[in-house]
Amino acid sequence: MYVTYLEKGVISIEYSERQQKIIDIVRNNEPITSEFIANRLNVTRATLRPDLAILTMSGMLDARPKVGYLFTGNNAINLVSEQIKKTKVSQIKSMPIVVDEQTSLYDAIVTLFLEDVGTIYIISNGYLCGVASRKDFLKNIMGGSDMHKVPVGLIMTRMPNIIMTHEDETAIEAAIKIIVHEVDSLPVVEKILQNGKEYFKVIGKVSKTNITKLFVDIGRQKV
Ligand code: ADP
Repeated sequence: MYVTYLEKGVISIEYSERQQKIIDIVRNNEPITSEFIANRLNVTRATLRPDLAILTMSGMLDARPKVGYLFTGNNAINLVSEQIKKTKVSQIKSMPIVVDEQTSLYDAIVTLFLEDVGTIYIISNGYLCGVASRKDFLKNIMGGSDMHKVPVGLIMTRMPNIIMTHEDETAIEAAIKIIVHEVDSLPVVEKILQNGKEYFKVIGKVSKTNITKLFVDIGRQKV
């Protein structure tokens, strides 16, 4: 096995030809004893010992007493997949840009430019009531709306049609919602119960950019 240290602590593992053969034998015959593997490869068990130690240490095989060797395939791809699956929305969320429903289209568009975002979350009495995106603004301006008079609350996509996420959801679940519902971002919300009614406080945002950053971080082994 060759272990190469690449930049930023990324480790690349290359197995020898015999180690590859051992992996294939175990994968196809698990559970399998070292004696059986040695027979198949026409070598002694002593010769195999260092190879088996490396393969179990690197997580590729599992050695179970009285059972034999099992294939676990804990290789780089599986580790990356585990990292992706355990990443939560709380770890990747960014700051939401929020305006009140009474804000004029003009002021909301200025906010869009100043904050350099594509979507604004709209609140009423402090709680989420809608979402307005670039296309919503364009559509209404092109339709002749007076952007100084019309409030953003009139043109937004409104509750209960807003697709949301929360801090404990996984990044994968949020990414799937973004794809399935064909939206650029999801508000991260905290549910508040008041007089038996549900309200949602906007505490963050997960956009396609956050998902892309996670992809890059995992590629660079930062997560
Ligand atoms: P763009 O304007 O760049 O196409 P989106 O694809 O995000 O941006 O928005 C498309 C439509 O979906 C818009 O009408 C917008 O109001 C709405 N929208 C955006 N995000 C959400 C969301 N999280 N839930 C429901 N509707 C949304």
